[in-house]
Order: sequence, then structure tokens, then C-alpha cells
Amino acid sequence: MTQTLHIIGGGMAGSEAAWQAANMGITVVIHEMRPKVETFAHQTGDLAEMVCSNSFRSDDDEGNAVGLLHWEMRAAGGVIIAAADANALPAGSALAVDREAFAKTVTERVTAHPNISVSYEEVTSLPEGPCIIATGPLTSSALADAIAAEAGQESLAFFDAIAPIVHFDSIDMSRAWMQSRYDKGETEEERTAYLNCPMDKEQYEAFIDALLSADVTTFKPGETAGYFDGCLPIEVMAERGRETLRFGPMKPVGLTNPHQPDVKPHAVVQLRRDNALGTLYNIVGFQTKMKYGAQTTVFKTIPGLENARFARLGGIHRNTFINSPTLLDEQMRLKSKPNIRMAGQITGVEGYVESAAMGLLAGRLAAAEILGQDLPPVPVDTAMGALVSHITGGAEAKTFQPMNVNFGLFRPVEAKGGRRGRKDRYKMYTDRAKAAWSEWLGLPALDESSAAE
Ligand SMILES: Cc1cc2nc3c(=O)[nH]c(=O)nc-3n(C[C@H](O)[C@H](O)[C@H](O)COP(=O)(O)OP(=O)(O)OC[C@H]3O[C@@H](n4cnc5c(N)ncnc54)[C@H](O)[C@@H]3O)c2cc1C
Repeated sequence: MTQTLHIIGGGMAGSEAAWQAANMGITVVIHEMRPKVETFAHQTGDLAEMVCSNSFRSDDDEGNAVGLLHWEMRAAGGVIIAAADANALPAGSALAVDREAFAKTVTERVTAHPNISVSYEEVTSLPEGPCIIATGPLTSSALADAIAAEAGQESLAFFDAIAPIVHFDSIDMSRAWMQSRYDKGETEEERTAYLNCPMDKEQYEAFIDALLSADVTTFKPGETAGYFDGCLPIEVMAERGRETLRFGPMKPVGLTNPHQPDVKPHAVVQLRRDNALGTLYNIVGFQTKMKYGAQTTVFKTIPGLENARFARLGGIHRNTFINSPTLLDEQMRLKSKPNIRMAGQITGVEGYVESAAMGLLAGRLAAAEILGQDLPPVPVDTAMGALVSHITGGAEAKTFQPMNVNFGLFRPVEAKGGRRGRKDRYKMYTDRAKAAWSEWLGLPALDESSAAE
């Protein structure tokens, strides 16, 4: 008899993980604390409740990395994406759903599965047998304590403080330059680890004015603002004094602009590499509560970032997540306790789609392990593979913050006949991903027309 797989948390990731494992013949028990124990954001006792927006974002599987993730989840028979499709509302190229009907559909399908049962209880300690922890951004404190005791207090965060992340190839290097402050570092790579964008006095003053007048979001009731100790939003720093940023993250010292070596910058915005591929850079110290529209307007006033494309914008939220790059192996298992896999937002991905996708992978990987099957590694050229590779190793562990799926996480495509436009490149990414994902799933090879469907 095979072992039972216990899944803690019946949200996006837990429901999908259960579905995938159950379809592979595994007996699954989901442990869900709602409705007995509530969170400040959930309203019902349904599985896979959407706590805020009703959108699964872009459904464009040829030009958008989230849309590609949708495609991969459909190809893998995902219950979350199927329930979304069944309850879709008109929303242009986005996949938006009737949230109540969506959660009811997931709940009905998952609870009706002959291999799945649901136990409505809070889990407060780490189980011994095969298990997936998918308790999400609002993991209960007793379980968070148990995870911290196993993983180390410093490996568990309760807020994300996300600085905006920019695609390297959208930065104007005729204005920006690579240099670490005071050229510190043993190697050339260390001495040029930062990307610098200079500002003169006028540009700095205009930037501060823009920060002070930008629209910001506020915390929800119950979502305490404990972030003030360690990581102030930049607009709050600016409120404390017009020079605060110039003496903080934007200090202009130890740097020489090679484009204008005789001009001392008044302030410098620094960006730091965010992934091993070097395709993404985060703006150092620029965590913010500004609304997304305001962020793009304000950040594009930074010299060198006028045409920046953002892989993600900044934010500060209540969010429990682990330092996956140090704690998880490539199979999403805790290195220190390999009977436990982690999935969903607690692994440091962000969003309904990414969380469900990581649940899908964890469910399949856990089931294969129980069955003694040897699955090949998840292909890195798929959206699933790019995301899981990022959280389990590609991301910088020291500055690890939750991540949405985006093409910056993918290995660059080699365009035959030179550089192509963005649309063509994205199509190349998605074609490559679809072929690799189909092969991994054991599906027939795609021809051109079926890939485009
Ligand atoms: C306030 C807020 C707003 C958000 N808005 C959006 C948005 O608009 N769009 C978006 O894409 N994402 C949003 N997110 C992120 C979103 O919640 C996640 O992306 C997604 O729901 C994560 O899926 P998950 O399965 O990892 O966690 P969840 O979907 O949260 O599921 C985790 C489940 O585990 C249960 N649980 C927790 N602790 C225990 C325990 N000890 N024992 C048993 N069960 C437990 C919870 O009750 C919950 O059902 C938001 C998050 C928050 C907190």
C-alpha cells in the first residue's frame, strides 16, 4: 500500500497539489484550518478562495509569461485553471473569474475526487510522513513557529518589502554604469556588481517632489504595519526630510560616472543583480507603497530608466515566506527534512497563478517520489521550470523577495539572424517552453498550429 500524502493548506497551491497527486493514484488528505480558524483576508471556508482581485492576469500564452503558465497548467490537467476557465468573465485578454463560483467549483471537484479527503483543522507542527506545506502568505502563527524552529528564524519573513525589478535590456547604459562603491571587491565581477544611475540636483529635487505627491496604498485592517523598524518605504523616507534619501540608498559617494568623469552626481540610484542569469536588476532600497501607476511614472524619471520595463513593481505586504534558495532542493523539499515539500506563496512566488503552478509541481513531484518513479528535472525553459529554478537557486538568497513569473527568469533565446522585436522574442520563449513542457508531461510533440491554439 502506498503512503498517504498530507497537504497542509487548501488554497491555490494545496488544492492543485492534491488534484495532481490524486490523479497519479495517491491517497491525499488536505488539512485546511478554515472555517474553524480564520485569517484577516479570507471570507469563506471554501478551498482556493481568492482573497483580493478576481483576476488570473493575462491569458496570452504567446506574449506573456503568466499566460504561458496558464497554458502549461491546462496541458497538465490543472484543476485551478480548469475551474477558472469554467467560471471566466469577459475581461479582454485577461482571465478574470466569478470568484465565488470559481472557489465553489474547485471545492466541489477536489472534495468529489475519490482519492482526496479534507480534514478541517489547523496544523501546528511539522508532520513526519510525506507532506506538502502550502499554507500561503497568511500561515497560522503556530505553524510558522514550527517552520521557523526547523528552518531558522532568519529564514522566515512575515512581510515582503519588494523593490521594483527592471529588465536589464531596457536600461540605457549610455547613462548608467557598472561599479561598486569605492570599487570594493576581490574580483572584477564584485567591483562592478552595481548598476548606477546618476542624478543632478534638479533631477533629484524633481524626484523627491514626485515621491511626495505620489498616490500610495494603505494597509488593510489587521495587516499590522510592523515594517517601520527595518525597511521604510522610500516615500516615507522622503517625508522625513528631502535629504534623507541622499544620505541613505541614493548617496552619491564612492562612485565615478565614466560618461562624465568630471561631474560629481548629486545622488545615485543603485540597482543590484537579482538573478544568476543577470537579466533582472532590483532598485536597491526602493521598497514602496506607491500605487503601481505612480511607480512607473516616478521611476521612469530616473536617468537611464526612461524606457525601463519592470519585471515587477515594488510593494510591502503581510506575507509569510521562506528563504527558498537556501532551504529547498530542486525538488522543492526542505533540505533539512526532505519528507516535507513546500508549495505556493510560502516558497516566495507571488500571485494566484504562480502559487497554483508551484502546487501543481509539488503535487506531481511528491506523488512520483511515493510511487518510486524517477521524474526528469523540470525543464528550465518552461514557465514552471523558470520559476522553480529561480526560487530554489537562481535568485540571490541574501536579497530574496517574492517573485512573479516573467520572461526575465528565462534563459535568453538565441534569435537566428540577429536581434528580433519583443513580440517575436516572446513567441520564441513560449514556443520553446511549450515543446519542453509537453515533452516533460509525456504529451505528443506539438506542431506549429497546435502550439498556437
Ligand atoms: C491581503 C492579500 C491580498 C492579495 N491579493 C492578491 C491578488 O489580488 N492577486 C493575486 O494573484 N494574489 C494576491 N495575493 C496573494 C495570494 O493570496 C496568493 O498568491 C495565493 O492565494 C497563494 O496561494 P497559496 O495556496 O500559497 O495560499 P492561500 O491561497 O492563502 O492558501 C493557504 C491556505 O492555508 C490555510 N492555512 C494557513 N495556515 C494553516 C494551518 N496552520 N493549518 C491548516 N491550514 C492553514 C489557509 O486558511 C489557506 O486556505 C494576496 C494576498 C494577501 C494576503
